[in-house]
Amino acid sequence: MKLKIAGSGGMFQIPNPFCKCPVCEEARKKRGRYQRLGPSLYIEDVKMLIDTPEDIGVACDRQNITEIKYLSISHKDPDHTRGMRIVEPLGYDCIADRGSPIQFIVLPEVADDINAWNGDGLHYYEDVLHCISIQKTDYARIGDIELHLVNNKTHRGNMTFYVISEKGKKAIYACCDVKPFIHNELYFDADVLIIGLVSDNGILKDGSHLKDAPFREDMFTLDEIVEIKNKYRIKRIIVTHIDEYWGKSYAYYQELEKSLDNICFAYDGMEIEL
Ligand SMILES: [Zn+2]
Ligand SMILES: [Zn+2]
Repeated sequence: MKLKIAGSGGMFQIPNPFCKCPVCEEARKKRGRYQRLGPSLYIEDVKMLIDTPEDIGVACDRQNITEIKYLSISHKDPDHTRGMRIVEPLGYDCIADRGSPIQFIVLPEVADDINAWNGDGLHYYEDVLHCISIQKTDYARIGDIELHLVNNKTHRGNMTFYVISEKGKKAIYACCDVKPFIHNELYFDADVLIIGLVSDNGILKDGSHLKDAPFREDMFTLDEIVEIKNKYRIKRIIVTHIDEYWGKSYAYYQELEKSLDNICFAYDGMEIEL
């Protein structure tokens, strides 16, 4: 199984165009792994993209993702949906006014959420432009890849965690709204858990502490992630959805992960082979 992190950022890109903090300034100079676009994952084996942040077109171009046959969106939030216009160049021929739909695989309740939050956006693409074909399901099999869509339903709403299996290998993609982490048997013995919203030292970009921030309950500490890793006997953790306001650079995470046991931090273009 081959996966690629198309974007490892969170709500705000790095560099954030309106910010002059050291992390953004460094990213402006060095580019490459120092910059982060919105959160998304590409499953190379079946050419499937999970999530469409607003900069997904740029991410695909940077990461040489030239074909998408399947698409999924994890939940309704803007940092995962507002690039859904990518389905237009993918599945709609403007000159001939003809759609050739790509498969859109989504939890039924998430499809309803996305429509409610995006002016019936999915309906428009399926029934007017005909550039997607929606399959509402919690399970799909594509070639050798098995895909379970698990609803990590919490007070924040519906959120899809993806369990991707192939030939005895298993990856979990849980990129946003991760806490609370609802128990599911499918998570046991995964080779990798790619998970968003994990705090490192809890000091944010402006020097304030995560424990005082209004979003503190949304994030796991590293200790809590180790607990999940041990409970489910997960071999490796990759942290993604790394936000600009956490105030940490690529080099910082490279150093930090040396002291951690099979926990590392994603970057745009990271390849994961199982
Ligand atoms: Zn900044
Ligand atoms: Zn998010």
